[in-house]
Amino acid sequence: MRPVTEFILNMSAGNSGDVLPVMESFYTIQGEGYHSGRPAFFIRLGGCDIGCVWCDVKESWSSTGHPMKSCEEIVAEALQEPSRFVVITGGEPALYDLTRLTRLLHEKVFEIAVETSGAYPLTGEWDWICVSPKKFKAPLQENLEKAHELKVVINHTSDFDWAEKNAAAVLKHCKLFLQPEYDKFEKHIPPIIDYVKLHPEWSISLQTHRFYTVMYNRNSY
Ligand code: SF4
Repeated sequence: MRPVTEFILNMSAGNSGDVLPVMESFYTIQGEGYHSGRPAFFIRLGGCDIGCVWCDVKESWSSTGHPMKSCEEIVAEALQEPSRFVVITGGEPALYDLTRLTRLLHEKVFEIAVETSGAYPLTGEWDWICVSPKKFKAPLQENLEKAHELKVVINHTSDFDWAEKNAAAVLKHCKLFLQPEYDKFEKHIPPIIDYVKLHPEWSISLQTHRFYTVMYNRNSY
């Protein structure tokens, strides 16, 4: 896990949210969760202290070493693509004040989704909030109550209890997803299928982008 001090320092440096560390941004297809299959412009912000052992973007943990981009630059890049659907992810995007970025995106009529662990207070204007709670740093109740989507990664049998604990804290309209940890897909998908059949309030989320990249030997799509 990255030292927490790095992130505290980063935040205490007074990041107003006018300029943000963008690890990468790219136009692709949302691969997982409720919006799976939709073309979207992804903005991945650097910085995360959650430390999930199965994290597939560990390069995003550091909050430093990424290009610092103004909100105007980020929006201008998003406008180059035909879709007006943006996904802000990380890292942990809630480490930053996203008020300005989301306001500028809304001014350009973007629909804006965020993927967050829910562990930090969330700023900004959102059309879709996906909370993916992590045992390593539990989500805030205020974020669970804002969630449109709860997406729980199943990496261990005990994660079903973790999923239910968080599901009990979201509001009724929130969509519920169980997602097998990709590297243990074959182990976890059978019990997930059985579980969802018994608990139909849940649906299965697959990281379809990862299957695609393996099938076609590409880094991304
Ligand atoms: Fe990786 Fe997301 Fe976990 Fe952070 S919260 S360690 S970015 S999976």
